[in-house]
Amino acid sequence: MKSMENIKVDREYIEIYPVNWQNITQKMVDQIFSARSFDFIKEISLYVHIPFCPAICPFCKFNIAGYEPLIYQKYLNALKKEISLFKNHPDLQNRIVTAIYFGGGTGSMLTSKEVYEILDKIHDVFSISNKVEITMECHPNTVNSKKFRDYKKVGVNRVSLGIQSFQDENLRNIERNHTAQQNINLLLEALKTGFNCVAMDLMYRLPSQTLENLKFDLYKIKELSPDGVSTYSLEPEATPLESKTSKIPSDKIDKEMFYFIGDFFESIGYRRFMQPDFSKPGKECKYVLNAWRAPQQLMIGLGAGAHSQYFGGYVWANVYPVKSYIDALEQEYFPGVMGVKVSLDELKSKYMVLGARAFSIEKEGFKKGFGENISDKFNSEIKSLIKLGWMKEENNYYKITREGLYYIDNISKVFYSWANKGKGQPWLKGLYNFTPKKFYKITRGKII
Ligand code: SF4
Repeated sequence: MKSMENIKVDREYIEIYPVNWQNITQKMVDQIFSARSFDFIKEISLYVHIPFCPAICPFCKFNIAGYEPLIYQKYLNALKKEISLFKNHPDLQNRIVTAIYFGGGTGSMLTSKEVYEILDKIHDVFSISNKVEITMECHPNTVNSKKFRDYKKVGVNRVSLGIQSFQDENLRNIERNHTAQQNINLLLEALKTGFNCVAMDLMYRLPSQTLENLKFDLYKIKELSPDGVSTYSLEPEATPLESKTSKIPSDKIDKEMFYFIGDFFESIGYRRFMQPDFSKPGKECKYVLNAWRAPQQLMIGLGAGAHSQYFGGYVWANVYPVKSYIDALEQEYFPGVMGVKVSLDELKSKYMVLGARAFSIEKEGFKKGFGENISDKFNSEIKSLIKLGWMKEENNYYKITREGLYYIDNISKVFYSWANKGKGQPWLKGLYNFTPKKFYKITRGKII
């Protein structure tokens, strides 16, 4: 086995595949709005991006904007217009929406009335499962017990709280302007509200953080007992936080923390269902599983900079700047700016690239969907991963081993097709600053 010490861990965080994108053209827009994706995929997820935040964190790499009341209102109107664009799309036939996710930015900038109005619009366009999971990402400074109750009344049944740490010093070091006590109170309030699932974010590898310091947060989680925890290793590189601190724990400590967290959660009855998500059994996030677990379901990303995954046969990203997004929708243009058509071969790679993040890749699902064996299609890739000790074969699955868990992005990239090798995720293509010369209208062409 090759020595793990010599392998550089890839920290890209793969969310979308394929990535050999190009500028959207009129022809691509026509295809997106007239093509149907492969029939064996039955479910749709909707991601709704709310880019506004109460304060901007110095480590943030998301598509965000400061709050301005007028822009905010225009944005919500644009969002509803974008939802309407999908009415009667051929990809909606015989498919239902099983997960809706309000993320950001800060989903919880929305009032319950605004959530109700957006959901109303969604109901007008899509068929919604009566078991749909509706998640709201909440920043601690934007929610309280009343708002939790109001969210529940309008249909939100899962909340994900941006807690990050239960120690004031840690929160100060990453310039989060909420306190440890506030985090504890909010988590308890959310649990009391009666959502189906209350999840939280935990950050580690924080400036000056030791394993002992991390243990304090983990024991606090054990005591408070949320249903799910998403764990993020701080990545200050290329963010304003990078110049403010030289005290980020080394890769060696990061790896130690990574395995400690996994062992800890397993010891208290949580299950790792995706990298980086843990939950109590039965409390896994449907939206996350739809997006990553093979076979991945269809996904439409709504809002500025949102990404759609394999809908109308394409992956694409909407324009990032909030004002450009509003302008495009006000003039009834499609806000997508870059993307690529997903060929059948790329769909097979996607099954593996994203599926690896959920640790178990089902052989039978691949055979059913594509009519061939995974072991025939990806023979050399699988062999190389087994040789590295990162993957193993177990009955109907290829599974990521304990050693492989830390190298999940390295593993995903083994399955990139030649056209995608060496290419970064879309946000590395400078999409944050990219405003196209032209947007395109949707013309509903004949089925392709
Ligand atoms: S609240 Fe979240 S999305 Fe907003 S700036 Fe902070 S990290 Fe970024």
